[in-house]
Amino acid sequence: MHARDTIHIEKPVRIPLIVGNWKMNKTPSEAAAFIRDLLERLTPSPKTDVVLTPPFTSLESASKALGPSSWINLGAQNLHWEQQGAFTGEVSASMLRELNCRYVIVGHSERRMLFGERDETIQKKVRAALVQGLAPILCVGESLAEREAGKATSAVTAQLDVNLAGLAQQELASVIIAYEPVWAIGTGRAATTEQAVAVHQSIRSFVEAGWNSTTAAAIRILYGGSVTPQNAESLLASEAIDGALVGGACLNPDSFATIVRIAQTRRA
Ligand code: PEP
Repeated sequence: MHARDTIHIEKPVRIPLIVGNWKMNKTPSEAAAFIRDLLERLTPSPKTDVVLTPPFTSLESASKALGPSSWINLGAQNLHWEQQGAFTGEVSASMLRELNCRYVIVGHSERRMLFGERDETIQKKVRAALVQGLAPILCVGESLAEREAGKATSAVTAQLDVNLAGLAQQELASVIIAYEPVWAIGTGRAATTEQAVAVHQSIRSFVEAGWNSTTAAAIRILYGGSVTPQNAESLLASEAIDGALVGGACLNPDSFATIVRIAQTRRA
């Protein structure tokens, strides 16, 4: 065979994504100050996407501080599945779009545990986000009891089975999955790279079985749960881990910038 005839099967490029989940932290003025500080510490790179998810009340000031066409994107931490109506205290996807959000976290374990969100509700939120052009960052993860019973993978795929039900291939292409073991969130006890990789691989296999190998190869799967500047290097070195959803460590500009820089230089 002539060299010219060699068949190259392109591996899809999954750009690493680092998401900062601010949770219920930072007022509008604190958000603006944080972003000014963060922007001074970072250099844009096509090798990493970055998303900040302030509380709803700080989205506008965060958007202004980032400026128009910023390389750092905005996301929200939750949404309601309806467009508008009598849903006191709720916020819709179109409202988030107008505040320049491009992403939205859906089904975070704190929402599941503290606010009673069920898999069926989460599925409706995923759909509502997609309809309005928001990329859902769908969080799934097993409890400590499930892990100890050897059911980490089956717990995660059971969540995905409902949360992603009925999505077409093009819809799934805009979804980001965040594997967040519940026992690792806010505990300082991150999953080992091996533990995370094993679940990431089973998530990719689940997508391949339910849709196809192209979708499975393209979907970004993040790890979340006590990610720090110290463990990010090892986690992000794995080809199976396409980025991180960062809670506690994203509230400090130095820590968050360090994690972003690790992603920007990984396998450089
Ligand atoms: C999270 O809440 O999504 C999270 C990953 O938190 P932490 O990094 O603090 O464990």
